[in-house]
Parts: sequence; structure tokens; C-alpha cells
Amino acid sequence: MNMDTAIQYLPGVGPKRAELLGSELGIATVGDLLHLYPFRYIDRSSIQPIGQVHPNHAYIQVRATVLKTRIFAKNGAELPPDKLKYNMASRLVATVADESGEMEVVFFKGIKWMHGRLLPGNTFIFFGKPSVFNGRLNMVHPEVDAPDAGTTGVLTGVYTSTEKLKNSGITGKVMLRLVGTALEEVLPGLSETLPEYVLREKGLVPLRFALRQTHFPVDQDALAKATYRLKFEELFLLQLSLLKQKYVRSRSDVGIRMSLVGEAFNDCYNALPYALTGSQKRVIREIREDMRSGHQMNRLLQGDVGSGKTMVAVLSALIAVGNGYQACIMAPTEVLAQQHFANVSRYLRPTGIQAALLTGTTGAAARREIHAGLEDGSIGIIIGTHALIEDTVQFRALGLAVVDEQHRFGVEQRARLWNKGSQGIPPHVLVMTATPIPRTLAMTLYGDLDVSVIDEMPPGRKPVQTLCVGENKRHAMHNFIRDQIALGRQAFIVYPLIFESEKLDYKNLELGYEEIVKAFPMPQYKVAIVHGRQSAQEKEFNMNAFVAGRAQILVSTTVIEVGVDVPNASVMVIESAERFGLSQLHQLRGRVGRGAEKSFCILMRGQKVSKESQKRLDLLCATENGFELAEEDMKMRGPGDLEGTQQSGLPVELKIASLARDGLILSDARGYAQHILDQDPALEKPVNAVLAAELRKDKYVTKDYSQIS
Ligand code: ADP
Ligand code: MG
Repeated sequence: MNMDTAIQYLPGVGPKRAELLGSELGIATVGDLLHLYPFRYIDRSSIQPIGQVHPNHAYIQVRATVLKTRIFAKNGAELPPDKLKYNMASRLVATVADESGEMEVVFFKGIKWMHGRLLPGNTFIFFGKPSVFNGRLNMVHPEVDAPDAGTTGVLTGVYTSTEKLKNSGITGKVMLRLVGTALEEVLPGLSETLPEYVLREKGLVPLRFALRQTHFPVDQDALAKATYRLKFEELFLLQLSLLKQKYVRSRSDVGIRMSLVGEAFNDCYNALPYALTGSQKRVIREIREDMRSGHQMNRLLQGDVGSGKTMVAVLSALIAVGNGYQACIMAPTEVLAQQHFANVSRYLRPTGIQAALLTGTTGAAARREIHAGLEDGSIGIIIGTHALIEDTVQFRALGLAVVDEQHRFGVEQRARLWNKGSQGIPPHVLVMTATPIPRTLAMTLYGDLDVSVIDEMPPGRKPVQTLCVGENKRHAMHNFIRDQIALGRQAFIVYPLIFESEKLDYKNLELGYEEIVKAFPMPQYKVAIVHGRQSAQEKEFNMNAFVAGRAQILVSTTVIEVGVDVPNASVMVIESAERFGLSQLHQLRGRVGRGAEKSFCILMRGQKVSKESQKRLDLLCATENGFELAEEDMKMRGPGDLEGTQQSGLPVELKIASLARDGLILSDARGYAQHILDQDPALEKPVNAVLAAELRKDKYVTKDYSQIS
């Protein structure tokens, strides 16, 4: 038996449990089971006496004996124990006690099962959040573990589980037993996955020790060493594979050589209404070098909101066109695609190059026409959404793919673009991101890319003064807007729109609009409103009223987050600001401060604001640096949230390391991977044979897009 053995054959599993483990936890092999690490450990040294538990405590653990259990119906009546009908039960209350006191544990779900388990006289470990109900200390839905759940050591691992697994008898205890069996079966024959010298130089414990101690730690110290080794390995191998791909690609000759700059580029450049910033010029030079090198370009362009990335995309696209190729610009949303299309078309006017827009809502007839135009080459630049990567879209000669806001695209989608190149030669790829990405994330998501940064704003941008105020300042806020309007400026007022309560959100928006119209009456003031429920014409009409200065105030949802450029707007009011994410707030703020006047961002805080939300708002008031905000955002939102939303973009799923918490290990691992590749780029030396073998595993190989043609 080894890591690759199907889980079904592990003693104690069998076909039925194997299927469940597969569908519920994605465990197909014994190795998958061993790579499912405990998400927390029960530390038996930290059990609290009930008498000392305080309802303010966060999570606590007590070791208590069940005194009695009672079951209540919906109407609150206690059900008689002798004629118990579980279908009437709505709540199970167990009274439990240790030497120091008593408390209640309460269950609203899984009542029948728990009732059978919490038999009076039996002792359990209850882990949960204490609170007070009817003057009595209680815990709702605590985790319940047998006091002897662990087999060795004082720390007992707790694994992710699901209702289905528990109901089928795969409890925490059973998981521990299965993992124990797997370790016994596999460890003796398991070979080390890192070379000896790596373990030595990096001070890592051997794999066998690491696996055993993460599942059954003897103490905190062993656990720390074990997890460190596994995290390092995970991040190191990932970085090694990314850097090796980058190396291979930079050596290989698959890339369209675009040696000309071309007339279209020059026509556009000469007609620009402004001079490019130093940063823009530098980045365009970097891109030009890449495109004429004969190697495929894979470049990430980072630049804060408003730093002028669109122009860079357009000029790059024109280089492709000038060399007889086509270019596509892909955006994550319909609105953004439309906006790009409007801007790009304007920039293209002096060149005579034809651009087109393709999105999910493009009609069938228009779509056919566009497909034809792309195939015969009459369309030079296509702008669109995911619709662009559909198989039906074929290019005559795609030379450059620009992907805007890449962090919302998966790596897989990037790969599909690669495949659209002609004659098996992948197009050059430029990935642009307006939301600065924390370094650790960038290193992983884009570990195989070259990076350019626009670190300079177009001239004339003034810092935006940001303040956070409560309801009591609403009046003052209105007055402030009046003053600004009197000076000839305009103001945005943005309302949050969150899907779960869409109706309510629109209500808020409408009420807000009415309030504003009252506070800013016609004919002295004109207020425009834009939101997602309007038709495209309505939206455009209202938006234009604001852009053209006919309306002084624009009330809207976040549709303006990506979009409108109104240099004359000097105030951005964000309602219920605590409901927005940090990067979204930053994006919204980026809508002002584009003109020559001093601008303001006013964050209106709701009644109830959590500590975290307040921290977010404070941070926003403290800095305008998008990179700083992104780092903090990641730290604050923590690994769960971040990886939950970003997982699709990660090249390899992380089982134990966290990009939010393990940034230092990541930097170290990346530096070390680079150091090894510097000496042995193809990993051909015998000492590195183990590493080469690891990188041949599926999870790395399938991600090696340089192999796809
Ligand atoms: P982003 O990087 O957020 O995509 P945009 O490309 O939308 O930024 O540019 C923001 C605004 O700045 C646009 O109105 C654009 O016309 C303007 N802009 C871009 N480059 C310059 C420049 N060099 N000088 C002045 N304005 C510029
Ligand atoms: Mg942009």
C-alpha cells in the first residue's frame, strides 16, 4: 500500500465509505487522506472548569458529564421521554457538569443522533462558544468529542467533516483511526520528497516525522516543526514549478517575433491628448522588448486605479496590429468591457483600425459577423468578456491577448487564450490588474510571469482626503456637497448592492435618492441616478447627464466602480461604507481626484459596525497606497476568506500553507527555489532527481501551459 493506493483498499474503508470520502472531502487515495490535515487540535491541557467559564470567552473547551437530556417541541413544551416523537422535536438540551459547575448544551439539528449519544453518566469534551440564555450558561451546537478521541499525545487533531459523513458514521474518531491506519500502512515504505541537502540547509524535519506529527502530535513543538516542514515543502515545490516553467519558456523559441512598431502605433501615439507618464513609457518599452524578442511574452502589469493602464493596453495591441496580427482585450464584466470598448474606439480613431465588442449579450447576427471578421482578419482588435474564450471564437492570427483584472480569471482561462494562437504559437499575454495584489499572492498566482509596475499617477492627480463619519454628520455632508457644487464641482453618492438582500438594497437606494432630491431640489440642482435595473439606454442617458455636467450629483450602485471618468467630480460619498470590501472602497475612491481640484471621499458609517469593518475604514482614511491596502486586506480577511474566493485562481490547491499567514515561508521558499534553479535549471543533477520527480506529478504537469500548443 502506498500514497497512490485507492482509498477503498485502506482497512476500515471499503467501497461505500470510499465513495462518501470522495464526494464529501475529495479523498480518492490514501495520500489524499494523509494530506487532509487537522484544521485544529484539541489540547487537553487547556480544558476549562465550568465554574470559571465566562460568556464573554471566545471558544472554550470543557470536560463534562451528562446529567440529563430534555427535548422540547416548537411551542416550547417538553416532550415526554417515554413517548418521544423526534419529528416533533425542535431542541435538545443536555445538562452537563464537572466538579466546578453545570451548564447546558443545546442542539437544534441532529437531535436524534445526539440524543442517542449524550447518554447520562457519559463524559465528553465539548468545544464551542459559551453564552447565556435565560440566566443559564450554555453552548449551542458545540463540537462533541469522546474524551479519549486521541490515541497518542495531548493534542488531538480535528478534521473537516460534513453532516453526511457524521450521519454515516465517519465521525472524528473514525477519521483518526483511518488516518492512524494509513500512517501505519504507508510510512514504512514512504520515500522522502525533498533532497537530503534541502532538509539540512533549511532545517526541516523528515517527511515521515512531519506526517505522523501533524496528525498525532506528541507536543506543540513537534507539531510546529511538522507543519513548518509541510508548509515549506508545499510552497517550495509550487514556486519551483512556476519558476522552472518561466525558465523553460524564456529559453524556448515559441513566440511571435514582432519587430515593427507600425504605423497604427505612431498614428495613435501622435494624436494622444496628453504626454505619457514616465511609468507608462517604461512599461511600453518593456512590452515592446518582449514582443520583438521572439519569445512569448507573459507579463503582469500592476498599477493602481487611474494610473493609465488602458493606454498601455491599446498601444501594445497596436504593436500586434502593426505586425499583421490581431489583439484581444478581455475584461471580467460586461460593464468594464463596454467601457474599454468606448475608450479604445476613441483612441483608435486616428488609426483607422477596426475594433469590435463581443460579450454574453451580443446578439446572434452581430456575433456571426464578428466571428467572420475575426477569421478573415478585418477586425484588428476585439474587446470582450469570457465570451472571447469560447471555442467558436477563432482568429486569423491572434498575436496579443490582454487580460484586465486578471485576479478574477482562473489560470485555466488564461490557458484557453493561449490556445487561440495561430499555428500552435501562443499569443503574447499581458495581464493587467487594477487592484494591487499582495506580494505573496502575486508570487503564487503569477509566479511564472514577468512583472511591470506603473508606480506613477498621470500628472494633476491630487491626494484624496478621506474621512469616515456617522449618521449625525449627514446634514454637514449635504452642506459640504452644496459648497462644492457652488464651486462648480460634482459629487458621486454610492450605495452598496449585495445580492442576498437585493430588494432591500434597491429600497435603500431609492430612499437615498428621494432624500437627496429633497435636499438638492430642482431647478437649482439636478440629480441623476444609475443602477443595474435600468435599461442600457436609461443608464447611458443618466450617466451622460453627469459626465456632461448637466447633473451635479450622481446617485448610483457600484456600477460606477469600474468606469466613468469625470475629472470635475470632487466628492465621493459612500453610503454604508462598512459593507464594502477594502479594495472595492479603494476602487471607488479612485473615481475622484482625477481633476485639478482637491477631492474628498466621505465614508458614511452605518449604525452597527463591527470592529473589523471599522478597522477597514480607518485604514482607508490613513492611506491612499493601494498596495498597502491590499496587504492589510489580506491579513484582515484571513486565509479562509481569501483562499475561498481566490482558490480558482491558484495554480495548485494549497493543503496546509496559507498565503495570508505564511508570507515569510513563501518568500523564503521562492528565494530558495530560485537559488536551486540558478545552479541546475532543468533539475538534471542526481541530487535533484527527487525534485524533478515531484514536479512530474499531475498537479504540476497539467499546469505547465508551455507544454500546450
Ligand atoms: P486604469 O489604470 O485605472 O485603467 P485608466 O487607463 O482608466 O486607468 O486611466 C485613468 C484616466 O487617466 C483616464 O481618463 C485616462 O485618459 C487618463 N490618463 C491616462 N494616462 C494619462 C497621462 N499620461 N496623462 C494624463 N491623463 C492620463
Ligand atoms: Mg482600467
